[in-house]
Amino acid sequence: MGCFDTVKFMCPFCQELTDVQSKAGSCSLTTYIETDVPSDIAKDLNNSTESCDNCKAAFKIVAVKEIKNIRMSAVPYYKED
Ligand SMILES: [Zn+2]
Repeated sequence: MGCFDTVKFMCPFCQELTDVQSKAGSCSLTTYIETDVPSDIAKDLNNSTESCDNCKAAFKIVAVKEIKNIRMSAVPYYKED
């Protein structure tokens, strides 16, 4: 079963776009670009080592901005009948 999302990164060696998969997100088979990654996927991929599909060189994925905790809240939930 293919349950993952894809992030496209520009390889730092050949400058081609290469796909990196993560199972941490909504697993909706969505493709994101490296400049706009959901925080759950960013946390999963941060500091991981991947290799380029094109030139096979290894590169490391790093968060450019600190991945911060987000503010959450409990809200009333009413079960629907
Ligand atoms: Zn490459």
